[in-house]
Amino acid sequence: MTLERIHEKVLKADVSGVSMVTPLQHALRLSKKINNHVFMKREDMQSVFSFKCRGAYNKIRQLSNHEKSSGIIAASAGNHAQGVALSAQQLNIDATIVMPQTTPPIKVNSVRELGGNVVLHGDSYDDAYQFARQLSCDNGLIFIHPYDDEDVIAGQGTLALEILQQLTEPIDAIYVAVGGGGLLAGVISVFKVLSPKTKVIAVEPENSNCLSVALKMNERVQLDSVGIFADGVAVKQIGELTFPIIQPYVDESICVSIDEICSAIKDIYEETRSIVEPAGALSLAG
Ligand SMILES: *Cc1c(COP(=O)(O)O)cnc(C)c1O
Repeated sequence: MTLERIHEKVLKADVSGVSMVTPLQHALRLSKKINNHVFMKREDMQSVFSFKCRGAYNKIRQLSNHEKSSGIIAASAGNHAQGVALSAQQLNIDATIVMPQTTPPIKVNSVRELGGNVVLHGDSYDDAYQFARQLSCDNGLIFIHPYDDEDVIAGQGTLALEILQQLTEPIDAIYVAVGGGGLLAGVISVFKVLSPKTKVIAVEPENSNCLSVALKMNERVQLDSVGIFADGVAVKQIGELTFPIIQPYVDESICVSIDEICSAIKDIYEETRSIVEPAGALSLAG
């Protein structure tokens, strides 16, 4: 079964080359305010400021030598790009990254600084994705998918393993931000095996809600457009591989407004004095 296979892959995953065991921070003010215990997994503290280095590295390290020497290519609205560029740099592999022209310059520049060869194309992740697929075909570059890949999912799942090691008390619920569903599928593959009583709750922006629409319609729906305020999760269709893992196991799927995301950014600032990107505040908004 896919869930068990991915669980095994999480246990064997190695992300140590590019990521650190981030703190699971007790959010003291918020916990007091809502009379509960709230913890934040501080993936914003990774050198590329998100968890994406985990999945990318776990995938890329397992390529054959022939594949590694062919070079790799990825499409990304930003964070996956930085994860791929960092992993490729660590493993001495050439990386081409296609990013939409709407990508914030701060993310484009970080990819360039990590040695990635950036190609700007189109207005959305989907445009960039199509173009990257074509370049991959034309030039024999290995395509590294941001979420629809078992080894990428397994890499993201390593943060869930860390959470269970960091917090020994039972966890009532875990709120997970969703774009294409790779992180959520990884979290599910860990929690549904090792902590089945924990409710796994998916969180999306209400204007970029491909998972909740798919759950409602019982099939993967392609949204006409998605809001890009939380650019890190602006995906029009939930993954082909991730959806069948998520659908039977996710306990709840909720959508939050831009106002709620902004309020969560402020809560995180008050708690940490760090300013996170909108996608980074999504799970707390949930
Ligand atoms: C990629 C990303 C997500 C969503 O991950 P998926 O695997 O695409 O669902 C959420 N938050 C941040 C900050 C991200 O970079």
